[in-house]
Amino acid sequence: MDADAIVVGGGLAGLVAATEMASRGLRVLLLEQEPYLGGQAFWSFGGLFLVDSPEQRRLGIRDSLELARTDWFGAAAFDREEEGPKAPGPDHWARRFAESYLEFAASEKRAWLTSLGVRFFPVVGWAERGFGLATGHGNSVPRFHLVWGTGPGLLEPFLRRARVLEEAGRLRVLLRHRVLSLLQEGGRVTGVEGEVLEPDPVPRGVPSSRRGVAGFRYQAQAVVLATGGIGGNLDWVREVWPERLGTPPKRLLKGVPDHVDGSGLRVAEAAGGRLVNLDRMWHYPEGVNNHTPIWTQHGIRILPGPSPLWVDATGRRLPPPLFPGFDALSTLSYLRRTGFDWSWFILDLKTLSKEFALSGSEQNPDLTGKSWIKVLRNRLFGPSPSVQAFLRAGQDFILAENLSELMRRMNALVGEEVLDPVRLEQEVRARDLELQNPFGKDAQLAAVFMARRYLGDRFLRVAKPHTFLSVFPSGSNSGRGGPLVAVRLWTLTRKTLGGLWTDLKGRVLKASGEPIPGLYAAGEAAGFGGGGMHGYKALEGTFLGGCLFSGLVAARSAALWLRSGVMDGG
Ligand SMILES: Cc1cc2nc3c(=O)[nH]c(=O)nc-3n(C[C@H](O)[C@H](O)[C@H](O)COP(=O)(O)OP(=O)(O)OC[C@H]3O[C@@H](n4cnc5c(N)ncnc54)[C@H](O)[C@@H]3O)c2cc1C
Repeated sequence: MDADAIVVGGGLAGLVAATEMASRGLRVLLLEQEPYLGGQAFWSFGGLFLVDSPEQRRLGIRDSLELARTDWFGAAAFDREEEGPKAPGPDHWARRFAESYLEFAASEKRAWLTSLGVRFFPVVGWAERGFGLATGHGNSVPRFHLVWGTGPGLLEPFLRRARVLEEAGRLRVLLRHRVLSLLQEGGRVTGVEGEVLEPDPVPRGVPSSRRGVAGFRYQAQAVVLATGGIGGNLDWVREVWPERLGTPPKRLLKGVPDHVDGSGLRVAEAAGGRLVNLDRMWHYPEGVNNHTPIWTQHGIRILPGPSPLWVDATGRRLPPPLFPGFDALSTLSYLRRTGFDWSWFILDLKTLSKEFALSGSEQNPDLTGKSWIKVLRNRLFGPSPSVQAFLRAGQDFILAENLSELMRRMNALVGEEVLDPVRLEQEVRARDLELQNPFGKDAQLAAVFMARRYLGDRFLRVAKPHTFLSVFPSGSNSGRGGPLVAVRLWTLTRKTLGGLWTDLKGRVLKASGEPIPGLYAAGEAAGFGGGGMHGYKALEGTFLGGCLFSGLVAARSAALWLRSGVMDGG
C-alpha cells in the first residue's frame, strides 16, 4: 500500500478531507493536477451560510434552525426521493444531507472555523432574498457571512495544517498528478492511476498543459474524490441543461477556471458510481465579461443590491419577483425564454456606487488583503477600484448623461436595434413616478424600502431610493444620482448542484443504491453531499460550507471504516 487513503483534488473539500484523515493518524496521499492547491475556493468570495450567529444577533437578526430549514426546503423543492416502490431516488440522500448540513451550520461550523483562526466580517449579507411566500425560495434573513480574507482566508488554516502534516510525514502532496481511473479488485476500490503532467508554471487560474510525461499507479484502502463540478466544461453544461431553464444560451461565460471540467466524475462513473441531479446547476444571470480574463471566457458575477431596473434585451422590465439578487434561477429561466442571450441593468452612478459588488477574491483586494481602511473607504464611498475598473474598461458597461444617449449606445454595443427605446423610457419614467410617495404599487421599490430596514443593507448595500432621471417631466437627463448606467448581463456558469450519489457517510453509491467499498466523494463532486443537498436552488454561501461539511463527513467515516477494517483484519 502506498497510503491508507488517497484524496483526489486539492480544492477546499480535498484539503479538508486529507487533513482530517491525516490528523486522525492515517497516512494520506493528496493528488492534484494543477501546479498549486486551493481549487475554486482560492477565487471565491468566501461567503458562508451560518445560522443564528453572533454576527447576526449583533445586527438584530433573529435566525433559527427552524427558519433556516423552512427556507432551505422551500428553495430545494426535493421531488426525486423515490424511484419505484421503496427504491430510494436521487434526492433520498440529498435531503438527509441537507438536514445534517443545516444542523452543522447552526452549531459546530462557526466554532470549529474560529478555533482554526477563521474570522468574519461583522456585517452579514442578504443573498438570494426570494420574495413571495414564507414557504418559498429565498433567505428570510441575512445569512451570508463573509470570511475576513475571502476565499484565501478560508483556505489558509487548511493549507497551514497540510504543511504541518506533510512535515510530520502523515500527508504527501503530489501536484501535476491527473487521475484517469480507479483501481478495483473484487468490486472494491483499491487505488488510482493516471498521468504525471508536464511542468507548466502558469499563473494560478490560467489553463495549464494536459500533456502527460509519465504514468502513475498508487494503491490505498480508501479513495476520496474531491474533483469539483462541471461549470468549466461548457459542452457538458449544455448537454445537461434542463428544459425548465429554457434553451441553453449560445454565449455562456465561465465563472470557474477551466480545471472545473468534471473529469473526476467520469472517473467515478466508469467505476460504477452513479451521477445524479446533474441537470441542477447554479448559473447566474448577472455575468459580465472580465476586462482582464484569467481563464477562458472568464466572466465575473455582479453581486447587485436590489435597486437596478432589470430589463430584457428589448427594454421590457422583468416581472416581480425577478429583481436583482432575489431569485437567480427563476430570473435565468425567464430570460432564457426572451429569445436573447443578454439582459440589462439600468441604474445611475449613485446607486451603482453603493450597490455594486463583484464576486471573487481578486475583485475584492480590500477584503482579501484584510485592510479595514480600504474596506471602509470602498464600502462607504464606493465604487470600489474594481468596480471602477469595469466602468472604465468593461465591455458591458455604458455611462451616459441622458437616457437617449444611453439607449443609443446600448444599441450600438449590441450591433442591432433590438432595444425598444419607447418601452425602456416608459419603464424608467414609471419607476421614477412611483417615488413621489413612500408607498406605492411597485413591488421592487417596496422590497427596496423593506431591505433598508435591515441595518447592514441601509449602511453598506442599498441606496436611498431616488429618481434616476431629472425631476423635470419632459427631460430625459440623468437626475441627482449622476450619470445613467447600463450594464449588459450574460449567463455565467458556476456551481454544479448535482454530482456523485453519496450516502450520509460520504460513500459513493452505485445505481442499485449499494456503496462501492473504498470509494468516497466530497465537495462539489458529490453535489456538496448526497448527490445534491441543495435540490433545485441554493441559499448562497452554502457551497464552501458544503465542501467543509462533506469533506469532514467523508474523512471521518473513511477513517472509522479503515480502523474497523484493520481491527477485523480486513
Ligand atoms: C469566483 C467564485 C466565487 C465563489 N464564491 C463563493 C462564495 O462566496 N460562497 C460559496 O459558498 N461558494 C463560492 N464559490 C463556490 C466554491 O468556491 C466552490 O463550490 C468550491 O470551492 C468547490 O470546491 P471543491 O473542493 O469541491 O472543488 P474544486 O475547488 O473545483 O477543486 C477540485 C480540485 O480537483 C482537481 N482535479 C479535478 N480533476 C482532477 C483529476 N482528474 N485528477 C487530479 N486532480 C483533479 C482540480 O484541479 C481542483 O484543484 C465560488 C466559486 C468561484 C469560482
